[in-house]
Amino acid sequence: MERPFIVKPGDSISLNGVGKGCDLERTPEYTGAYRKKGETKKPLKKLNKQMLKLQELLYAENQHALLIILQGMDTCGKDGTIRKVMAGINVQGCDVVSFKVPSVDEVSRDFLWRAHKAVPQKGKIGIFNRSHYEDVLVVRVHDLVPKSVWKQRYQQINDFEKMLVENGTVVLKFFLHISKDEQKERLESRINDPSKHWKITEADIRERAYWDDYMQAYEAVLQKCSTDWAPWYIIPANKKWYRNLVITERIVKTLEGLDMKFPKPTSDVSILSVD
Ligand code: ADP
Repeated sequence: MERPFIVKPGDSISLNGVGKGCDLERTPEYTGAYRKKGETKKPLKKLNKQMLKLQELLYAENQHALLIILQGMDTCGKDGTIRKVMAGINVQGCDVVSFKVPSVDEVSRDFLWRAHKAVPQKGKIGIFNRSHYEDVLVVRVHDLVPKSVWKQRYQQINDFEKMLVENGTVVLKFFLHISKDEQKERLESRINDPSKHWKITEADIRERAYWDDYMQAYEAVLQKCSTDWAPWYIIPANKKWYRNLVITERIVKTLEGLDMKFPKPTSDVSILSVD
């Protein structure tokens, strides 16, 4: 089933739950026809198997790369998504790159330098855990560069992604949309559960105070950088099981759409025999 999470160029987006651009399917708690976790287990397992086959084809054909970009507020589930969506795929064909505060080496280059270096090679799946979009998100929210600088970046990002697509990289961008209440619960559970203490810092609590500014910055990203060649998908992510299903399904559909073929054998296999 085609689900309506894609952002079309020109769509108006409202992430705060009111007004034009806030469709039911774009709310964090949306779970479509599913009511509970158990119902998505079987379809997810089937999709994971399909993905493994498609990944093998991607590797064998060696004509495309798949770049998956994951963005969202703290605790939105980027790590969990990577674990569940990539369950069962061949780890040799997949690279995960996390984008942290840029190093001295990185800030002394243009903001796309580190992203470009991390793009997957043909035949591979690359996952960006955060990405070059931080340069119009955290950077915009905290005025880390002048407005005149970050304003230009939306177009620069679109041009960069277009170049990638024209050179054989398929780009999928997922915004993991959780509600502010859900974030509160997830942060509290990190505070209350000693086995999760390593996951929480004071910075996470501080950043929460900027929630509305982040929503504005995300709305700008979704409206300015969802293109025909590299669309954004708003993924309802309060329910982890639904999030995983929607993302896995989108990846499988995208890989199927590439209409990949195994390459022709390099030897005449009809005359080969093994003693
Ligand atoms: P995560 O929250 O992704 O699990 P961390 O807790 O290490 O990982 O957070 C990474 C931090 O790096 C985030 O606060 C993010 O906003 C920040 N960051 C990423 N890219 C940039 C950037 N270009 N400029 C400033 N900060 C950035």
